[in-house]
Amino acid sequence: MNRLTRLSAAEMVTLLDSREISSVELTQAHLDRIESVDGAIHAFLRTLPEVALAEAEAADAARASGEDLPELAGVPIAVKDVLATKGLTTTCGSKILRNWIPAYDATVVKKLREAHLPVLGKTNMDEFAMGSSTEHSAYGPTHNPWDLDRIPGGSGGGSAAAVGAFEAPLALGSDTGGSIRQPAAVTGTVGVKPTYGGVSRYGLVAMASSLDQVGPVARNVLDTALLHAVIGGHDPKDQTSLNDPVPPVVEAARLGLAGDVKGLRIGVVQELGGSGFQAGVMDRFQEALALLEGLGATVRQVSCPSFRYALGAYYLIMPSEASSNLARFDAMRYGIRVDPKAGPVTAESVMGATREAGFGPEVKRRIILGTYALSAGYYDAYYGSAQKVRTLIQRDFEAAWEQVDVLVSPTSPTTAFKLGEKLDDPLAMYLADVATIPVNLAGIPGISVPSGLAEDGLPAGFQALAPARADAFLYQVGGALEAALEDKWGGPLAAQALEIPTQSRVKEASNG
Ligand code: GLN
Repeated sequence: MNRLTRLSAAEMVTLLDSREISSVELTQAHLDRIESVDGAIHAFLRTLPEVALAEAEAADAARASGEDLPELAGVPIAVKDVLATKGLTTTCGSKILRNWIPAYDATVVKKLREAHLPVLGKTNMDEFAMGSSTEHSAYGPTHNPWDLDRIPGGSGGGSAAAVGAFEAPLALGSDTGGSIRQPAAVTGTVGVKPTYGGVSRYGLVAMASSLDQVGPVARNVLDTALLHAVIGGHDPKDQTSLNDPVPPVVEAARLGLAGDVKGLRIGVVQELGGSGFQAGVMDRFQEALALLEGLGATVRQVSCPSFRYALGAYYLIMPSEASSNLARFDAMRYGIRVDPKAGPVTAESVMGATREAGFGPEVKRRIILGTYALSAGYYDAYYGSAQKVRTLIQRDFEAAWEQVDVLVSPTSPTTAFKLGEKLDDPLAMYLADVATIPVNLAGIPGISVPSGLAEDGLPAGFQALAPARADAFLYQVGGALEAALEDKWGGPLAAQALEIPTQSRVKEASNG
């Protein structure tokens, strides 16, 4: 494995700035890494070697010309296949979009291009971001770099696994109910769901528009902050975009990394822990809390009684919005067209045949659930009640912010489960997001940082939540925790994935 792929994004920038390496070299090292391990991991649906290398060349040229460059210029990145990439197939992990070539870039992708981050490829995901394991991808699952027989989380398992397997230092994800944070937790990486409206959703294929948010994935807190700073900020093309500058996330990460959390008030969400949570996950969580307390933060218990209804409310609101958003896949405007096997070829029969063939079972389940919840006579009982619960959850958060600056919990109740283990039990799969969903319902930001290895030797995640627009707190807490833990571990947790025996099944190219 080329040593360049082991560096953090921030370290890569230092070497690029001092001209010790070029972006072309760096990008090629990652393309080689993908070539050697992605057969086993399957983090990428598509790699874009020519595009990435051309962008890397442009980054090198810009640097050589003495141009004032954005911080991450020249550092390659992976992009979840739910974000539109101009001229490049974008499938959302679905058969129905097998052949969709967007005519425009998502705003966040445009920002990557303007900031000279070469795009290595598009990453695997559960179909239309519905799932917690990437097993609902129409193109086959992604494997967890820590144990190839296990899931990498979902829906953004591809982005998390790519970063965790050192195929990319950075990735973009999207988080509707946990799809950035839960994969980060189970792959030993860092993932952030920014404040709703803090990062543009223009060109993010919509799943549940009131919950969806784009965010960064990396192997450490500072790199995540640097990427957040590149993609964040107001976008007139997104009606829900906040008219705010990007919060001071990089400064906050640096503050945290220097151990500065003195006086920060931390609240432990009583409802998100204990029964139903794996013992080893809870142990790592408690140890992390103790470390933060040791640095001078204060810790107290906080109760959020409405959280117990969050999962139920989410699984009404999300399918309702998704059923409406996915109506656009009608065989006429995007993607594949399938003619009916028998009978007349009408608009309706083509639409039916295309959706029947193009959508997978989980997507169909949610369209049916959502359409039902929105139908006349049931709307108030289902969708209406769920919206009321949403208000209650927001009030729980408001009450909590009177007492504390951040709330914390384990990110995911368990470590990575086995591929296939929960595929036939949707409810068990949905429970993977019990701790991440309240955040989306309230529109607030959340981070997942590795807290160590649980009793089964697999990564566990520590989640921190902050009030809307206060994303900076997440990076401060995350940075402080990471610095304290890495002191103990002697380096980043992600690096340990390279040492474990399952990794030996991943054929390494002998390129250093
Ligand atoms: N796993 C959750 C779901 O299946 C969250 C998905 C997401 O955040 N996109 O809906």
